[in-house]
Amino acid sequence: MTVLELRDVRKTYPGVDALAGLDVSVARGEIVALLGPNGAGKTTTFELLLGLIRPTSGDVRVFGQEPGGRVRTRIGAMLQAAGLPDQLQVRELVRLIGRGYPTAVRVDEVLARTSLTKRATRTVKSLSGGERQRLLLALALVGTPELLLLDEPTAAMDVASRRTFWEQARASVADGATILFATHDLTEAAAVADRVVVVAGGRVVADTTPDALTHHGDDDLEEVFLA
Ligand code: ATP
Repeated sequence: MTVLELRDVRKTYPGVDALAGLDVSVARGEIVALLGPNGAGKTTTFELLLGLIRPTSGDVRVFGQEPGGRVRTRIGAMLQAAGLPDQLQVRELVRLIGRGYPTAVRVDEVLARTSLTKRATRTVKSLSGGERQRLLLALALVGTPELLLLDEPTAAMDVASRRTFWEQARASVADGATILFATHDLTEAAAVADRVVVVAGGRVVADTTPDALTHHGDDDLEEVFLA
């Protein structure tokens, strides 16, 4: 079953084609990486899937529906620009966000799953960068999402934290979720994803398995990242 689909999607801002005919589709249970350099159109893709913006042309579907509205409650998202209320306690914030979902799980369960139990009564402001990312994952997981959209979720993390983060995110896939995540780290994309979609200039330039990607001519990939 197809969880999300973008067909020939264009998103144009004055003077910029953020997306220039993007085709991406993700099936249930897949972990797919959107790999691309700065400005490739990754964040724009997530904003479209969440219904935060509309395409200039083309078709965007999530669970067969137009993005936004009720379908949004089936998605857990981690966005790059996410601002958090710094003075709230970790547990309070997770509880508050959980209330917005019809299928929220227990707060303590989510905190345990993201190794935040010991930080539950700390303020958001006091968390380290990696802990803050885990809190964002907890907020993405609290509604028992069927789809996780993660925009460069491990960008600020060291190697050990990345590993833990992906173990925790993967556990939700074992529970039946699907993940689309953005990264510009080829190694991470190859290690985590079942399939890697390489985007550049708002278009898909490769849609392949991690194996094929790592054996792909390095020159071709370098071209994508240095273009
Ligand atoms: P990064 O890896 O740097 O986060 P990205 O792949 O997420 O990059 P996008 O943020 O989707 O890329 O941006 C794609 C292009 O669209 C960029 O050239 C960006 O400047 C442009 N863009 C995105 N949002 C807007 C906007 N609201 N107004 C004008 N231009 C925009």
